[in-house]
Amino acid sequence: MRAVIRISIGLIVLLAIAVPTIASNKIKVAVAGGYEEIRSLEENDVIYVSLSELAGILGGTIDWEIVGHTVSYRDTDFTIKLLIGSPFLNLNDTTFNMTHEAILDRGQLFVPTATFLPLLDRVTSQNIVWQPNDNKIQIDSDYFNVTDLSVQTKANGLLIDIYLTTPLAYEIFVTEGNWLNVSIRDARINRSRILSRRNSQYMYQLKVHQVENNTGQVSIRLRRNVTDWSHKIAYNPTRLQISIKDANFQFDTATNRPVIGPDDKIDVIVIDPGHGGKDYGAIGQNGTREKDIVLEISKKLAKLIRKDKQLKVVLTRDRDKTLSLEQRARIANDAGADLFVSIHANASPKKQIRGWNVFFLAPALNDSARSVEQLENSYFLRESYSDSDDPSIDSDYQDPVASILSEMLMTEFQAESHDLAQMIDREFRRRLDTPARGIDQAGFFVLNKVFTPSVLIEAAFISNKIEEKKLKNKKYQEKVARGLYEAIKRFKAKYESN
Ligand SMILES: [Zn+2]
Repeated sequence: MRAVIRISIGLIVLLAIAVPTIASNKIKVAVAGGYEEIRSLEENDVIYVSLSELAGILGGTIDWEIVGHTVSYRDTDFTIKLLIGSPFLNLNDTTFNMTHEAILDRGQLFVPTATFLPLLDRVTSQNIVWQPNDNKIQIDSDYFNVTDLSVQTKANGLLIDIYLTTPLAYEIFVTEGNWLNVSIRDARINRSRILSRRNSQYMYQLKVHQVENNTGQVSIRLRRNVTDWSHKIAYNPTRLQISIKDANFQFDTATNRPVIGPDDKIDVIVIDPGHGGKDYGAIGQNGTREKDIVLEISKKLAKLIRKDKQLKVVLTRDRDKTLSLEQRARIANDAGADLFVSIHANASPKKQIRGWNVFFLAPALNDSARSVEQLENSYFLRESYSDSDDPSIDSDYQDPVASILSEMLMTEFQAESHDLAQMIDREFRRRLDTPARGIDQAGFFVLNKVFTPSVLIEAAFISNKIEEKKLKNKKYQEKVARGLYEAIKRFKAKYESN
């Protein structure tokens, strides 16, 4: 079997230098009503804990700044700034020494537990104690007042209960994409408990935000339209109860087959020609513009699919037009896309680099991928990373990329996206006379916001003269489109026959 994740030799060397042999482990965190587990590492008898997983339990946000190698952990009462590889941290503008350095391992930042937690305990309103003998972090269990969530079907719809220790003021609003948002005043949300109630039978996504000025928000992206709902505070136990009326809330729990998109049929494909309008994308040495080439390929693909009338095709753009990533994602979600294919051409400062790639979405769940997400408006970061063979170039920039490739968490559609990527890979290998660079996973922004299996292809390198010529050639464009078309047909057949 082929390895799915290809990390170049250069990157492996880079990682080997950055990450010494470390024992990877789990630490228990005692919170209201039970235990959570978070990743830990042991190195030279020092126990480290994942900062983002800890923040996931305590609340607050983590911001990465790739270039400066700094990581900030913010909550309502504090800001902690850490420097990767340094024992010093800055807490509300005072510098402290953790004795041991903050280390980066597979995309996550780890802090020394015994010295970091007492510093954190000073500034949080929660009581945090490290108990080394039990390998456990104890968090004051009375802290949370929004403690749990349950979702269940009723005869006429869906019943959502949000458990509270005491009645709290709240507000409910529904936003685009069937997001049901519950904003709760003075909330201290048991984030990890509530996130653990995610259930793909009812929802696409579940998010918890602990906003400043003590408002907390629980957002659920439901699988059905939310038009008619009522809410109240119920008692014994105290909870906020939301009833969503919808006779169509009937679920078939008997089958385990993957649910793709809003129903089990794969009937809508969204094709996304990259860039457009003011955004030219990459430009070849002879002036060929990525935005023009990818539009041509996309139109050819749309034509092939329309011809056999099995799928409805939606193009995010069918002419030269500027579109934001959000607009592209919105088009896909509004169309009820069952598949999303974004088409691009690659570029590299090294003009000799050639070949095609297929990327599938891997979510920005590790720290480094999150940092990439924060660069959202800085255009497709991934496109410029493709020249990863030389670690001496731009090494500041490659660290996080290596981490993105080395550790990814599964989401609902990652398996399907990967499956589609493999089918495309197989077709391209058979049809294209450009070198195969194969499949990678990456957290493309446009894919991140599309709630459906998604892939992004780089048809060839426009920065290479030979491939620039190929990209302009109608025959090559046709071959790329044909390869995508065959893969999409295979994907549809596989998932609909399950
Ligand atoms: Zn592009």
